[in-house]
Amino acid sequence: MHRELKIYIETYGCQMNLYDSELVGGMLQDDHHRMVEDLAEADVVLVNTCAVRENAEQRVFAQLARYRKAKEAREGDMTIGILGCMSQHLKDKITDAHPYVDLVCGPDQYRELPRVIRDLTVSREKQFILCRKDKTENYDEIYPSRKSGVNAWVTIMRGCDNMCSFCIVPFTRGRERSRSVESVVRECEKLAAEGFREVTLLGQNVNSYKDGEQRFDALLQAVSQVEGIGRIRFTSPHPKDFSEGMMAQMADNPKVCKHMHLPMQAGNNRVLEVMRRGYTREDFAALVRKARERVPGIGFSTDIIVGFPTETAEEFEQTLELVQDVRFESAFTFEYSPREGAPSAKWEDDVSPVEKNRRLRALIEAQQRITHEKAAACVGGSFEVLLENESRRDAGELMGRSSCNRVVVVGRDPRWDTGTMVQVEIERAVNFTLRGRVTHVEGTPLEDLSADWQPPRAAKVAG
Ligand code: SF4
Repeated sequence: MHRELKIYIETYGCQMNLYDSELVGGMLQDDHHRMVEDLAEADVVLVNTCAVRENAEQRVFAQLARYRKAKEAREGDMTIGILGCMSQHLKDKITDAHPYVDLVCGPDQYRELPRVIRDLTVSREKQFILCRKDKTENYDEIYPSRKSGVNAWVTIMRGCDNMCSFCIVPFTRGRERSRSVESVVRECEKLAAEGFREVTLLGQNVNSYKDGEQRFDALLQAVSQVEGIGRIRFTSPHPKDFSEGMMAQMADNPKVCKHMHLPMQAGNNRVLEVMRRGYTREDFAALVRKARERVPGIGFSTDIIVGFPTETAEEFEQTLELVQDVRFESAFTFEYSPREGAPSAKWEDDVSPVEKNRRLRALIEAQQRITHEKAAACVGGSFEVLLENESRRDAGELMGRSSCNRVVVVGRDPRWDTGTMVQVEIERAVNFTLRGRVTHVEGTPLEDLSADWQPPRAAKVAG
Protein backbone atom coordinates (compact mmCIF):
# COMPACT_ATOMS: atom_id res chain seq x y z
CA MET A 1 0.00 0.00 0.00
CA HIS A 2 1.46 3.39 -0.96
CA ARG A 3 1.57 6.59 1.08
CA GLU A 4 -1.62 8.67 1.31
CA LEU A 5 -1.06 12.04 -0.39
CA LYS A 6 -2.93 15.29 0.19
CA ILE A 7 -4.21 16.54 -3.16
CA TYR A 8 -5.09 20.15 -3.92
CA ILE A 9 -6.82 20.90 -7.24
CA GLU A 10 -7.31 24.41 -8.61
CA THR A 11 -9.62 24.78 -11.60
CA TYR A 12 -9.81 27.44 -14.30
CA GLY A 13 -12.24 27.82 -17.18
CA CYS A 14 -15.53 26.18 -17.98
CA GLN A 15 -17.83 23.66 -16.32
CA MET A 16 -16.23 20.88 -18.36
CA ASN A 17 -13.02 21.61 -16.49
CA LEU A 18 -14.80 21.64 -13.14
CA TYR A 19 -16.24 18.24 -13.98
CA ASP A 20 -12.81 16.95 -15.05
CA SER A 21 -11.32 18.15 -11.74
CA GLU A 22 -14.00 16.14 -9.92
CA LEU A 23 -13.20 13.18 -12.16
CA VAL A 24 -9.48 13.40 -11.36
CA GLY A 25 -10.32 13.86 -7.65
CA GLY A 26 -12.47 10.71 -7.81
CA MET A 27 -9.65 8.66 -9.40
CA LEU A 28 -7.09 9.85 -6.85
CA GLN A 29 -9.42 9.20 -3.91
CA ASP A 30 -9.99 5.70 -5.28
CA ASP A 31 -6.19 5.42 -5.21
CA HIS A 32 -6.30 6.15 -1.44
CA HIS A 33 -5.35 9.81 -1.50
CA ARG A 34 -7.19 12.69 0.17
CA MET A 35 -8.43 16.04 -1.16
CA VAL A 36 -7.47 19.22 0.74
CA GLU A 37 -8.58 22.81 0.32
CA ASP A 38 -5.37 24.53 1.38
CA LEU A 39 -2.39 24.79 -0.95
CA ALA A 40 0.07 24.96 1.97
CA GLU A 41 -1.03 21.51 3.17
CA ALA A 42 -0.77 19.82 -0.20
CA ASP A 43 1.66 17.08 -1.27
CA VAL A 44 0.31 17.33 -4.81
CA VAL A 45 -0.94 20.49 -6.53
CA LEU A 46 -2.90 19.98 -9.74
CA VAL A 47 -3.93 22.98 -11.79
CA ASN A 48 -6.67 22.29 -14.30
CA THR A 49 -6.26 24.91 -17.00
CA CYS A 50 -8.26 26.47 -19.81
CA ALA A 51 -6.92 27.65 -23.15
CA VAL A 52 -10.15 28.96 -24.59
CA ARG A 53 -9.74 32.54 -23.38
CA GLU A 54 -6.48 34.39 -23.15
CA ASN A 55 -7.10 35.75 -19.64
CA ALA A 56 -7.55 32.23 -18.19
CA GLU A 57 -4.14 31.28 -19.62
CA GLN A 58 -2.52 34.44 -18.24
CA ARG A 59 -4.03 33.80 -14.81
CA VAL A 60 -2.46 30.34 -14.70
CA PHE A 61 0.98 31.66 -15.69
CA ALA A 62 0.61 34.35 -13.01
CA GLN A 63 -0.20 31.68 -10.40
CA LEU A 64 2.77 29.44 -11.24
CA ALA A 65 5.09 31.55 -9.06
CA ARG A 66 2.78 30.86 -6.11
CA TYR A 67 2.99 27.10 -6.66
CA ARG A 68 6.77 27.29 -7.01
CA LYS A 69 7.04 29.16 -3.68
CA ALA A 70 4.84 26.56 -1.98
CA LYS A 71 7.12 23.83 -3.35
CA GLU A 72 10.26 25.67 -2.19
CA ALA A 73 8.73 26.06 1.27
CA ARG A 74 8.61 22.24 1.39
CA GLU A 75 12.16 21.93 0.08
CA GLY A 76 10.91 20.47 -3.16
CA ASP A 77 8.76 17.76 -1.57
CA MET A 78 5.68 18.57 -3.58
CA THR A 79 4.37 17.44 -6.96
CA ILE A 80 3.08 20.14 -9.28
CA GLY A 81 0.97 19.08 -12.25
CA ILE A 82 -0.67 21.12 -15.00
CA LEU A 83 -3.80 19.51 -16.46
CA GLY A 84 -6.37 20.47 -19.06
CA CYS A 85 -6.50 22.28 -22.37
CA MET A 86 -3.55 24.57 -21.75
CA SER A 87 -1.25 21.63 -21.11
CA GLN A 88 -2.30 20.05 -24.37
CA HIS A 89 -1.72 23.30 -26.15
CA LEU A 90 1.38 24.76 -24.45
CA LYS A 91 3.20 21.71 -23.09
CA ASP A 92 6.64 22.74 -24.37
CA LYS A 93 6.32 26.30 -23.16
CA ILE A 94 5.32 25.06 -19.69
CA THR A 95 7.99 22.41 -19.27
CA ASP A 96 10.85 24.52 -20.71
CA ALA A 97 10.17 27.69 -18.74
CA HIS A 98 8.96 26.05 -15.51
CA PRO A 99 11.25 23.15 -14.58
CA TYR A 100 9.64 22.80 -11.13
CA VAL A 101 6.47 21.56 -12.87
CA ASP A 102 6.60 17.76 -12.55
CA LEU A 103 3.86 16.73 -14.90
CA VAL A 104 1.75 18.01 -17.74
CA CYS A 105 -1.37 16.05 -18.61
CA GLY A 106 -3.91 16.67 -21.39
CA PRO A 107 -7.66 15.93 -21.07
CA ASP A 108 -7.43 12.43 -22.61
CA GLN A 109 -4.77 11.03 -20.25
CA TYR A 110 -6.24 11.47 -16.76
CA ARG A 111 -6.39 7.70 -16.18
CA GLU A 112 -2.57 7.79 -16.04
CA LEU A 113 -2.47 10.26 -13.16
CA PRO A 114 -2.67 7.88 -10.17
CA ARG A 115 0.28 5.86 -11.50
CA VAL A 116 2.41 8.87 -12.44
CA ILE A 117 1.74 10.66 -9.16
CA ARG A 118 2.85 7.56 -7.28
CA ASP A 119 6.01 7.37 -9.41
CA LEU A 120 6.76 11.01 -8.68
CA THR A 121 6.76 10.42 -4.94
CA VAL A 122 9.67 8.03 -5.54
CA SER A 123 11.67 10.18 -7.97
CA ARG A 124 11.27 13.66 -9.40
CA GLU A 125 14.14 13.41 -11.80
CA LYS A 126 12.11 13.78 -14.94
CA GLN A 127 9.07 15.70 -16.07
CA PHE A 128 6.13 13.57 -17.24
CA ILE A 129 4.34 14.75 -20.37
CA LEU A 130 1.05 12.93 -20.92
CA CYS A 131 -0.52 14.69 -23.84
CA ARG A 132 -1.42 11.91 -26.28
CA LYS A 133 -4.88 12.40 -27.75
CA ASP A 134 -7.25 9.47 -27.52
CA LYS A 135 -10.21 9.47 -29.91
CA THR A 136 -12.16 7.01 -27.77
CA GLU A 137 -11.54 8.16 -24.20
CA ASN A 138 -14.82 9.27 -22.60
CA TYR A 139 -14.16 8.20 -18.98
CA ASP A 140 -17.25 6.00 -18.95
CA GLU A 141 -17.58 4.31 -15.57
CA ILE A 142 -15.30 6.69 -13.70
CA TYR A 143 -17.32 8.57 -11.14
CA PRO A 144 -16.24 12.05 -10.11
CA SER A 145 -15.86 12.92 -6.44
CA ARG A 146 -18.26 15.76 -5.74
CA LYS A 147 -19.07 17.91 -2.78
CA SER A 148 -22.68 17.42 -1.78
CA GLY A 149 -25.15 19.87 -3.20
CA VAL A 150 -28.30 20.24 -5.23
CA ASN A 151 -27.00 20.42 -8.79
CA ALA A 152 -24.37 18.11 -10.26
CA TRP A 153 -22.66 18.45 -13.61
CA VAL A 154 -22.44 15.34 -15.76
CA THR A 155 -20.24 15.28 -18.86
CA ILE A 156 -22.03 13.32 -21.58
CA MET A 157 -19.60 13.86 -24.43
CA ARG A 158 -16.10 15.16 -25.03
CA GLY A 159 -14.45 17.03 -27.86
CA CYS A 160 -15.99 18.85 -30.80
CA ASP A 161 -16.10 18.33 -34.56
CA ASN A 162 -17.29 21.79 -35.50
CA MET A 163 -14.07 23.67 -36.17
CA CYS A 164 -15.35 27.18 -35.53
CA SER A 165 -12.51 29.35 -36.79
CA PHE A 166 -11.88 31.15 -33.47
CA CYS A 167 -11.85 28.06 -31.26
CA ILE A 168 -9.09 25.68 -30.21
CA VAL A 169 -11.32 23.13 -28.48
CA PRO A 170 -11.22 20.66 -31.41
CA PHE A 171 -7.40 20.80 -31.18
CA THR A 172 -7.08 20.58 -27.39
CA ARG A 173 -9.98 18.24 -26.62
CA GLY A 174 -10.08 16.32 -29.89
CA ARG A 175 -12.95 14.86 -31.87
CA GLU A 176 -16.45 14.29 -30.53
CA ARG A 177 -17.21 11.08 -28.65
CA SER A 178 -20.22 10.39 -26.45
CA ARG A 179 -20.67 8.29 -23.33
CA SER A 180 -23.29 5.57 -23.46
CA VAL A 181 -26.85 6.29 -22.35
CA GLU A 182 -26.54 3.52 -19.74
CA SER A 183 -23.42 4.99 -18.20
CA VAL A 184 -24.91 8.52 -17.97
CA VAL A 185 -28.10 7.11 -16.44
CA ARG A 186 -26.08 5.09 -13.90
CA GLU A 187 -24.19 8.20 -12.88
CA CYS A 188 -27.48 10.10 -12.48
CA GLU A 189 -28.93 7.27 -10.36
CA LYS A 190 -25.87 7.48 -8.14
CA LEU A 191 -26.28 11.25 -7.88
CA ALA A 192 -29.96 10.88 -6.93
CA ALA A 193 -28.97 8.40 -4.21
CA GLU A 194 -26.44 10.97 -2.91
CA GLY A 195 -29.21 13.58 -2.67
CA PHE A 196 -28.67 15.63 -5.82
CA ARG A 197 -31.92 16.85 -7.33
CA GLU A 198 -30.79 18.49 -10.55
CA VAL A 199 -28.28 17.44 -13.19
CA THR A 200 -26.75 19.57 -15.91
CA LEU A 201 -25.65 17.52 -18.90
CA LEU A 202 -22.43 18.94 -20.27
CA GLY A 203 -20.71 18.84 -23.60
CA GLN A 204 -19.08 21.19 -26.07
CA ASN A 205 -21.96 20.47 -28.40
CA VAL A 206 -24.56 18.46 -26.45
CA ASN A 207 -27.10 18.17 -29.20
CA SER A 208 -24.75 16.21 -31.42
CA TYR A 209 -24.69 13.54 -28.67
CA LYS A 210 -24.87 10.07 -30.21
CA ASP A 211 -24.91 6.59 -28.72
CA GLY A 212 -25.59 4.26 -31.66
CA GLU A 213 -29.04 5.23 -32.88
CA GLN A 214 -29.83 7.13 -29.69
CA ARG A 215 -29.50 10.89 -29.92
CA PHE A 216 -29.70 13.65 -27.35
CA ASP A 217 -33.52 13.55 -27.04
CA ALA A 218 -33.31 9.83 -26.13
CA LEU A 219 -30.73 10.64 -23.46
CA LEU A 220 -32.96 13.39 -21.99
CA GLN A 221 -35.85 10.93 -21.90
CA ALA A 222 -33.73 8.23 -20.22
CA VAL A 223 -32.30 10.59 -17.57
CA SER A 224 -35.77 11.95 -16.82
CA GLN A 225 -36.78 8.46 -15.72
CA VAL A 226 -34.25 8.49 -12.90
CA GLU A 227 -36.23 8.71 -9.69
CA GLY A 228 -35.11 11.54 -7.43
CA ILE A 229 -33.74 13.72 -10.21
CA GLY A 230 -36.34 16.46 -10.55
CA ARG A 231 -34.69 18.69 -13.10
CA ILE A 232 -32.41 18.32 -16.10
CA ARG A 233 -30.46 21.15 -17.68
CA PHE A 234 -27.91 21.00 -20.48
CA THR A 235 -25.19 23.15 -21.94
CA SER A 236 -24.28 24.05 -24.63
CA PRO A 237 -26.35 23.13 -27.65
CA HIS A 238 -25.29 24.26 -31.12
CA PRO A 239 -27.94 26.18 -33.10
CA LYS A 240 -27.33 24.10 -36.22
CA ASP A 241 -27.96 20.74 -34.50
CA PHE A 242 -31.48 21.16 -33.17
CA SER A 243 -33.86 18.27 -33.73
CA GLU A 244 -37.60 18.06 -33.46
CA GLY A 245 -37.17 15.39 -30.79
CA MET A 246 -35.10 17.73 -28.64
CA MET A 247 -37.67 20.49 -28.96
CA ALA A 248 -40.38 17.98 -27.99
CA GLN A 249 -38.43 17.01 -24.85
CA MET A 250 -38.18 20.66 -23.85
CA ALA A 251 -41.86 21.23 -24.53
CA ASP A 252 -43.38 18.08 -23.07
CA ASN A 253 -41.01 16.57 -20.53
CA PRO A 254 -41.68 18.31 -17.20
CA LYS A 255 -38.20 17.45 -15.89
CA VAL A 256 -36.34 19.13 -18.77
CA CYS A 257 -35.77 22.77 -17.85
CA LYS A 258 -37.10 25.45 -20.13
CA HIS A 259 -33.83 27.23 -20.67
CA MET A 260 -31.37 27.23 -23.50
CA HIS A 261 -27.87 28.65 -23.58
CA LEU A 262 -27.66 29.15 -27.33
CA PRO A 263 -24.38 30.70 -28.49
CA MET A 264 -25.11 33.24 -31.24
CA GLN A 265 -21.54 34.59 -31.58
CA ALA A 266 -22.44 37.19 -34.27
CA GLY A 267 -25.45 38.59 -36.09
CA ASN A 268 -24.03 39.22 -39.55
CA ASN A 269 -24.10 36.45 -42.12
CA ARG A 270 -20.65 37.12 -43.59
CA VAL A 271 -19.06 37.13 -40.13
CA LEU A 272 -20.95 33.96 -39.17
CA GLU A 273 -19.60 32.33 -42.29
CA VAL A 274 -15.99 33.32 -41.54
CA MET A 275 -16.53 32.06 -38.02
CA ARG A 276 -17.72 28.79 -39.64
CA ARG A 277 -20.79 28.64 -37.46
CA GLY A 278 -23.00 26.79 -39.93
CA TYR A 279 -26.13 28.99 -39.62
CA THR A 280 -27.35 32.41 -40.73
CA ARG A 281 -28.88 35.20 -38.65
CA GLU A 282 -32.25 34.23 -40.16
CA ASP A 283 -31.81 30.57 -39.10
CA PHE A 284 -30.91 31.69 -35.58
CA ALA A 285 -33.89 34.05 -35.23
CA ALA A 286 -36.24 31.38 -36.64
CA LEU A 287 -34.94 28.79 -34.16
CA VAL A 288 -35.58 31.10 -31.21
CA ARG A 289 -39.05 31.96 -32.55
CA LYS A 290 -39.92 28.31 -32.96
CA ALA A 291 -38.65 27.42 -29.48
CA ARG A 292 -40.72 30.23 -27.95
CA GLU A 293 -43.82 28.94 -29.72
CA ARG A 294 -43.22 25.31 -28.77
CA VAL A 295 -41.92 25.94 -25.24
CA PRO A 296 -43.82 28.83 -23.66
CA GLY A 297 -41.85 30.64 -20.96
CA ILE A 298 -38.48 29.41 -22.25
CA GLY A 299 -35.48 31.56 -21.26
CA PHE A 300 -32.45 32.18 -23.50
CA SER A 301 -28.87 33.12 -22.77
CA THR A 302 -26.07 33.41 -25.29
CA ASP A 303 -22.39 34.10 -26.07
CA ILE A 304 -21.35 36.89 -28.45
CA ILE A 305 -17.92 37.90 -29.75
CA VAL A 306 -17.31 41.44 -31.00
CA GLY A 307 -14.45 42.67 -33.17
CA PHE A 308 -13.86 39.39 -35.00
CA PRO A 309 -11.21 39.84 -37.76
CA THR A 310 -12.68 41.77 -40.71
CA GLU A 311 -15.94 42.61 -38.85
CA THR A 312 -16.95 46.12 -39.96
CA ALA A 313 -18.87 48.64 -37.86
CA GLU A 314 -21.95 48.05 -40.08
CA GLU A 315 -21.71 44.29 -39.61
CA PHE A 316 -21.50 44.77 -35.85
CA GLU A 317 -24.70 46.88 -36.06
CA GLN A 318 -26.42 43.75 -37.38
CA THR A 319 -25.30 41.88 -34.26
CA LEU A 320 -26.86 44.63 -32.15
CA GLU A 321 -30.06 44.43 -34.20
CA LEU A 322 -30.29 40.67 -33.79
CA VAL A 323 -29.78 40.99 -30.02
CA GLN A 324 -32.60 43.54 -29.93
CA ASP A 325 -34.78 41.32 -32.06
CA VAL A 326 -34.17 38.05 -30.17
CA ARG A 327 -34.16 39.63 -26.66
CA PHE A 328 -32.09 37.12 -24.67
CA GLU A 329 -32.62 36.99 -20.91
CA SER A 330 -28.84 37.36 -20.52
CA ALA A 331 -25.64 37.30 -22.58
CA PHE A 332 -21.92 36.62 -22.09
CA THR A 333 -20.10 39.10 -24.29
CA PHE A 334 -16.42 39.09 -25.27
CA GLU A 335 -13.95 41.11 -27.29
CA TYR A 336 -12.23 38.85 -29.83
CA SER A 337 -8.71 37.77 -28.99
CA PRO A 338 -6.79 35.30 -31.15
CA ARG A 339 -6.07 31.89 -29.63
CA GLU A 340 -2.80 30.37 -30.79
CA GLY A 341 -3.61 27.23 -32.75
CA ALA A 342 -7.09 28.32 -33.86
CA PRO A 343 -7.54 29.02 -37.61
CA SER A 344 -8.43 32.69 -37.04
CA ALA A 345 -5.12 33.27 -35.20
CA LYS A 346 -3.45 33.35 -38.61
CA TRP A 347 -5.61 36.25 -39.73
CA GLU A 348 -4.89 39.88 -39.05
CA ASP A 349 -6.55 40.98 -35.80
CA ASP A 350 -7.62 44.12 -37.62
CA VAL A 351 -10.27 45.67 -35.36
CA SER A 352 -8.50 48.11 -33.05
CA PRO A 353 -8.75 47.60 -29.27
CA VAL A 354 -10.56 50.93 -28.95
CA GLU A 355 -13.14 49.93 -31.55
CA LYS A 356 -13.60 46.47 -30.00
CA ASN A 357 -14.22 48.12 -26.67
CA ARG A 358 -16.74 50.55 -28.19
CA ARG A 359 -18.65 47.64 -29.72
CA LEU A 360 -18.55 45.68 -26.50
CA ARG A 361 -19.89 48.60 -24.48
CA ALA A 362 -22.70 49.19 -27.00
CA LEU A 363 -23.63 45.52 -26.83
CA ILE A 364 -23.53 45.36 -23.05
CA GLU A 365 -25.67 48.48 -22.81
CA ALA A 366 -28.29 47.08 -25.22
CA GLN A 367 -28.37 43.72 -23.44
CA GLN A 368 -28.56 45.30 -19.98
CA ARG A 369 -31.62 47.26 -21.05
CA ILE A 370 -33.30 44.08 -22.26
CA THR A 371 -32.24 42.14 -19.14
CA HIS A 372 -33.78 44.81 -16.89
CA GLU A 373 -37.00 45.02 -18.89
CA LYS A 374 -37.42 41.26 -18.91
CA ALA A 375 -36.69 40.93 -15.20
CA ALA A 376 -39.14 43.76 -14.39
CA ALA A 377 -41.81 41.94 -16.41
CA CYS A 378 -41.50 38.96 -14.02
CA VAL A 379 -42.75 41.00 -11.03
CA GLY A 380 -46.19 39.75 -10.03
CA GLY A 381 -45.54 36.40 -11.72
CA SER A 382 -44.96 33.07 -10.01
CA PHE A 383 -42.12 30.59 -10.56
CA GLU A 384 -41.36 27.12 -9.35
CA VAL A 385 -37.87 27.42 -7.84
CA LEU A 386 -35.40 24.77 -6.74
CA LEU A 387 -33.46 26.26 -3.81
CA GLU A 388 -29.74 25.71 -4.32
CA ASN A 389 -27.55 27.76 -1.99
CA GLU A 390 -27.34 30.32 0.72
CA SER A 391 -27.48 33.75 -0.91
CA ARG A 392 -23.99 35.18 -1.40
CA ARG A 393 -25.00 38.54 0.05
CA ASP A 394 -27.14 37.54 2.99
CA ALA A 395 -27.00 34.37 5.05
CA GLY A 396 -30.65 34.98 5.95
CA GLU A 397 -31.66 34.28 2.36
CA LEU A 398 -31.57 31.35 -0.02
CA MET A 399 -31.16 31.47 -3.76
CA GLY A 400 -32.47 29.11 -6.37
CA ARG A 401 -33.39 29.01 -10.01
CA SER A 402 -36.59 28.72 -11.97
CA SER A 403 -36.90 26.22 -14.78
CA CYS A 404 -36.16 29.07 -17.23
CA ASN A 405 -32.95 29.80 -15.27
CA ARG A 406 -34.07 32.95 -13.47
CA VAL A 407 -32.13 33.49 -10.25
CA VAL A 408 -34.68 33.89 -7.43
CA VAL A 409 -33.94 34.85 -3.81
CA VAL A 410 -36.27 34.11 -0.89
CA GLY A 411 -36.04 34.51 2.89
CA ARG A 412 -34.90 31.55 4.96
CA ASP A 413 -37.45 29.58 6.90
CA PRO A 414 -37.40 26.28 8.81
CA ARG A 415 -39.98 24.92 6.38
CA TRP A 416 -37.59 24.91 3.43
CA ASP A 417 -33.92 24.51 2.76
CA THR A 418 -31.54 23.99 -0.13
CA GLY A 419 -32.88 21.13 -2.21
CA THR A 420 -36.52 22.11 -1.64
CA MET A 421 -38.77 23.01 -4.57
CA VAL A 422 -40.91 26.04 -3.73
CA GLN A 423 -43.39 28.21 -5.58
CA VAL A 424 -42.40 31.87 -5.39
CA GLU A 425 -44.42 34.97 -6.13
CA ILE A 426 -42.07 37.64 -7.47
CA GLU A 427 -42.13 40.95 -5.63
CA ARG A 428 -39.02 42.73 -6.92
CA ALA A 429 -36.45 42.56 -9.70
CA VAL A 430 -32.88 43.74 -9.15
CA ASN A 431 -30.91 43.46 -12.40
CA PHE A 432 -31.22 39.79 -13.41
CA THR A 433 -32.12 38.61 -9.89
CA LEU A 434 -35.71 38.28 -8.72
CA ARG A 435 -36.87 38.40 -5.09
CA GLY A 436 -40.13 37.04 -3.83
CA ARG A 437 -42.21 35.27 -1.23
CA VAL A 438 -42.79 31.58 -1.00
CA THR A 439 -46.42 30.66 -1.58
CA HIS A 440 -46.10 26.90 -1.68
CA VAL A 441 -43.59 24.29 -0.57
CA GLU A 442 -43.46 20.88 -2.20
CA GLY A 443 -45.03 18.25 -0.04
CA THR A 444 -46.84 20.85 2.09
CA PRO A 445 -50.59 21.35 1.74
CA LEU A 446 -51.34 24.82 0.37
CA GLU A 447 -53.49 25.77 3.39
CA ASP A 448 -50.41 25.52 5.64
CA LEU A 449 -49.07 28.60 3.92
CA SER A 450 -52.19 30.75 4.18
CA ALA A 451 -52.57 33.93 2.12
CA ASP A 452 -51.59 36.28 4.93
CA TRP A 453 -48.66 34.16 6.06
CA GLN A 454 -45.29 35.83 5.43
CA PRO A 455 -41.98 33.99 5.59
CA PRO A 456 -39.94 35.56 8.40
CA ARG A 457 -36.83 37.37 7.22
CA ALA A 458 -33.68 36.59 9.16
CA ALA A 459 -31.55 39.49 10.35
CA LYS A 460 -28.87 40.66 7.94
CA VAL A 461 -25.46 39.27 8.59
CA ALA A 462 -22.79 41.95 8.90
CA GLY A 463 -20.18 42.11 6.15
S1 SF4 B 1 -18.94 24.43 -31.40
FE1 SF4 B 1 -17.34 25.80 -32.17
S2 SF4 B 1 -16.98 27.17 -30.39
FE2 SF4 B 1 -18.03 25.36 -29.59
S3 SF4 B 1 -16.39 24.00 -28.92
FE3 SF4 B 1 -16.93 23.40 -31.02
S4 SF4 B 1 -15.48 24.52 -32.31
FE4 SF4 B 1 -15.45 25.48 -30.29
